[in-house]
Amino acid sequence: MTAKVRLTEAENIARIEFDHPEKDVNLLDTETLLQLKDILASLRGRVDLSAVLVTSAKPRVFIAGADIREVETFTDRELAFSKSEGAKAILQMIEDLKVPTVAVINGACLGGGFELALACRYRVAGFSDAVRIGLPEIQLGIVPGMGGMLRLPRLLGIIKALPLILTGKMVGAKDALKLGLVDELFPDKTLPEQAAAFARNAPLKRDERPLSFLTRFFEKTSVGRYWVFRSARKRVLTQTRGAYPAPLRAIEILRKTGGLTPVSGSRIESEGFADLVGSEVAQNLIRLYLLNERYKKFPWTDLRLAPEPVLTCGVVGAGVMGGGIAQLLSNRNIAVRVKDIHTEALGGALREAYRLYGESVRRKKMKPFERDRKMSLISTGLTREGLRGCGIILEAVVEDLGVKQKVFRELGAITGPGTILASNTSSLSIHDMAKGTPHPERVIGLHFFNPVNRMPLVEVIPADVTSQETIERTVQFARSLGKTVVVVKDVRGFLVNRILGPYLNEAGYLMAEGISPERLDAAARKFGMPMGPAELLDHVGIDVGCKVAHILEEAYGARMKTAPLLERLVGKGYLGKKVSLGLYRYKGKQAARNPGLDLPKPARVLPEEEVLKRLLSVMVNEASRCLDEKVVAEAGAVDIGMIIGTGFPPFRAGLLRYADHTGLKKIVEDLERFAASVDRERFTVAPLLARLAANGQTFYPS
Ligand code: NAD
Repeated sequence: MTAKVRLTEAENIARIEFDHPEKDVNLLDTETLLQLKDILASLRGRVDLSAVLVTSAKPRVFIAGADIREVETFTDRELAFSKSEGAKAILQMIEDLKVPTVAVINGACLGGGFELALACRYRVAGFSDAVRIGLPEIQLGIVPGMGGMLRLPRLLGIIKALPLILTGKMVGAKDALKLGLVDELFPDKTLPEQAAAFARNAPLKRDERPLSFLTRFFEKTSVGRYWVFRSARKRVLTQTRGAYPAPLRAIEILRKTGGLTPVSGSRIESEGFADLVGSEVAQNLIRLYLLNERYKKFPWTDLRLAPEPVLTCGVVGAGVMGGGIAQLLSNRNIAVRVKDIHTEALGGALREAYRLYGESVRRKKMKPFERDRKMSLISTGLTREGLRGCGIILEAVVEDLGVKQKVFRELGAITGPGTILASNTSSLSIHDMAKGTPHPERVIGLHFFNPVNRMPLVEVIPADVTSQETIERTVQFARSLGKTVVVVKDVRGFLVNRILGPYLNEAGYLMAEGISPERLDAAARKFGMPMGPAELLDHVGIDVGCKVAHILEEAYGARMKTAPLLERLVGKGYLGKKVSLGLYRYKGKQAARNPGLDLPKPARVLPEEEVLKRLLSVMVNEASRCLDEKVVAEAGAVDIGMIIGTGFPPFRAGLLRYADHTGLKKIVEDLERFAASVDRERFTVAPLLARLAANGQTFYPS
């Protein structure tokens, strides 16, 4: 057994130091906890020491939490319960030490790591931006199971602890001090010495903070507590629409454990942890977490080039996307030159960037001088001047192949071999754009989603002529912007729009059968989508949706035949939110059905479940075609793309995970039924899906 924790002693101070020998981070897995237990047993009853410090030997990480891969295996309730009880008993040994205990937080202190720190009498941290403290368990569909549910409210009071537990929010060093999560902050360089001095002077017993009258009312009276928990429950139900059980269980645990010690309340927390961890929702959220981690680092090429920061970028086309990209780049401290053919567009892009920064300033996330500095990184022009020396030039002009080809030819002629030429097209062929340029190997697709600053996904689309180096550098670049990358084959709609297209199109057919937009949206929202397909069509623009539908129809034929209703809506000028009239009419904050819609009366009442099956089965079918054609290599790439690109419900862990869970045989049966009763072409079962279902297999290896 390799040592992951060690004990040293000097000048009357014992130091428990975490140092995982193989990983960059410290994790609290069973093995580490058992080693900690032995160390704590050796310190039990020692009164000769001045203090015990808990430290980390890793730079920028204290303890990043439990080992999620291990937690994923706690599907047996009894096992999960005993793991939680066992871990708590070990952390209780820290609390029971007879000398002051101090956690020295030099970086990420999350989940179980923070629960360990909470078992210490005191916590001190460095000023470093690496310090992040919190209990993010709720985001994995579970509750903290190492005593955090009892110790955090004891430290902060329920009112301050509740939002931290219910949102899983992580806070930086300064906020941690303000909230009372840590007792002192010290400069990183002198943290070890100052922490030791702090420990030497720390009394064994902490001073209780006096409570204000209001806090006493809400925390200590039954009426106050009833009100606090009731309003928290209401808020959670509004935000999660009941799809996530963990926050509700957390409220329940906090309600039941009020006034109990970590020992007397232990069982209540362990039961909550054990009930949740094996649940479908928690297992899905854990899978999604692991998938996210995988795709943060996924090696898309065989090359392993050293990262080369891009210092200057060009953006051609200053519309919605070009403007958004320019703001994103400047926000990452990259100087960006924006070119357009219209002065007004350039002004618009600058105004939009200023507006976005203004929001950050208003929310006190940015100082005005930082906004001004970042704005000064954006320069604009009507000529190609200033684009020559750029590391990457992103093209975001109108969606027209002829225009884009011309732009690429010109850019190819004025730039050297070090410049990557990337297109933000959502539907055109990268190959067609690349072939006319002098250096096609430097051309690639880099598809951002709208709004650029908020959507975490980018699709990177190499053409068949794109060099491996261009792919690798583009992936590195997109990651440096904080985006998650999926590398996708150069097919129409790439991955996300190709799968989302049939869903929106099917919504058009369903509405033409008399299913109201409200019913469609309610069904999709109930399933967990952030908005329904009718709302999404209005949001994207029905004309844009229709244009994409036509491109997909042209590429994939009859199964993607554009719903005639969408064309009719465009013809009537019902373009969506941008003109305040689409499937809904937008007046102020209220949206009501567009009175001019005039949908037919449905021939028969279609149950909600049936509506959902139609919407979802076409997506699963198309996703299976994408896998078959190697648009992406594995089911995980489809799922990560659909979740972070379209908001597919995270608690379902993705479209194909949902399909596996439902049963591919059932989905095939649904498709066959729809093919017979609704439309043969749209619902023809894709070969891979048919094969997997027939063999009793799943998209994910089981
Ligand atoms: P937009 O119409 O808002 O902006 C296009 C801009 O390009 C205009 O300002 C126009 O003046 C400029 N332009 C046209 N020809 C030019 C030329 N030769 N040189 C320089 N500038 C020129 O378009 P948008 O919505 O920002 O879309 C841009 C690209 O991004 C398109 O390829 C689109 O498919 C893609 N895209 C759009 C979205 C979206 O939601 N809007 C999402 C992803 C990708």
